[in-house]
Amino acid sequence: MKRIVVLGSTGSIGKSSLEVVRGNADLFQIVGLSGHRNMELLKQQIKEFHPKYVTVGYWEAYQELKTIFPEIQFFYGEQGLEELASVEDYDILLTAVSGAVGIRATVKGIEKEKRIALANKETMVAAGSYINDLLKQYPKAEIIPVDSEHSAIFQSLQGNDKKEVKRLIITASGGAFRGKTRIELEKVGVQDALKHPNWSMGKKITVDSATLVNKGLEIIEAHELFGIDYDKIDTILHPQSIIHSMVEYQDNSIIAQMGVTDMKLPIQYAFTYPRRVSNSVLESLDFLKYGQMSFEKIDTQVFQGIDLARKAGNMGGTMPIVLNAANEIAVDFFLKEKIRFLEIYEVIQAAMEQFPREEIQSLEHILAKDHEVREWVKTWEKLL
Ligand code: NDP
Ligand code: MG
Repeated sequence: MKRIVVLGSTGSIGKSSLEVVRGNADLFQIVGLSGHRNMELLKQQIKEFHPKYVTVGYWEAYQELKTIFPEIQFFYGEQGLEELASVEDYDILLTAVSGAVGIRATVKGIEKEKRIALANKETMVAAGSYINDLLKQYPKAEIIPVDSEHSAIFQSLQGNDKKEVKRLIITASGGAFRGKTRIELEKVGVQDALKHPNWSMGKKITVDSATLVNKGLEIIEAHELFGIDYDKIDTILHPQSIIHSMVEYQDNSIIAQMGVTDMKLPIQYAFTYPRRVSNSVLESLDFLKYGQMSFEKIDTQVFQGIDLARKAGNMGGTMPIVLNAANEIAVDFFLKEKIRFLEIYEVIQAAMEQFPREEIQSLEHILAKDHEVREWVKTWEKLL
């Protein structure tokens, strides 16, 4: 029996993880849940899974839920995620909150020497080197990636020596605007960006898929997770998203992981690794339904997310923090219709010019830089 804490249980990944648990109740048990704003859903989840611990975004919700469920230990606010990750009696921490708020909680899970099923990509992007150092200090802790591309690479690396890797090939669906020209992108709106062709995900990551900033963040995430140089990480457009990513070895053999476009498989694999178990909620891939797999070059001139992230990643230090924080605020502005789609790139670029690279000193330094960039972008908004 694996005892699981889900940070962000009311989100897209969180809900999928609960489906995985529902599908195999003999193997998985929920001990902790967390919601930020969506209290109605959180209440339903509490009633169904009877967790021992729950954290919520606000004091008012904390007060209300405490009276409804007196048997549960509640936490709240920014500290709540960390407090939940710091309890002793669990095996796996699924970090599925969106944004940089996941970093501190992930750190706590590592310090408790737990398995981290890591969906929150912002953690490795902003704090990758810090997390890698921490993992050396807590060798019993481990990170198993949930992001589908990284799960695919992780699976394709099993049984092989990392020194023999020639390159990683990260596949990209291309997002909502695949094939569009820059002129066409000038006119797109929020609803257009939220129409992802293959994956159903939270709003922030769906916009990131449309800008291809998501693919850029995934390049940095792969570099940090697998310790592979940036010049050995390629991306390719694969509109059907059947291949979730691949590893090419020195002998030119390529190992790919395939499956349906559903996050439940990488979530369960992060729970059960190194084992593979059946689960009624996992779908089998019907090749004949697709008929063909195709591949194209990504137009990085139009979709600047990849090059911006490569630049930030290669510069290292605080630059990925700047990229990530500026992007989070820019996407939020776009979703609120304060800026246009292509201005997301402008905001990121401006932030990368504003904040010179610094060597990372500490976790506090990472979080302070993240905060500083966000505040700066918020004031910059008035100039747009
Ligand atoms: P969602 O927006 O659907 O869900 C986010 C979750 O985090 C919700 O439970 C939300 O609570 C909670 N949350 C939001 N802000 C805060 C905060 N400030 N403090 C505490 N909790 C907060 O996101 P996704 O599930 O799509 O993505 C989650 C993470 O996984 C992201 O980092 C994303 O990049 C990554 N990821 C997602 C994939 C996907 O398929 N969705 C694929 C690969 C990676 P509430 O809703 O109650 O407000
Ligand atoms: Mg992904």
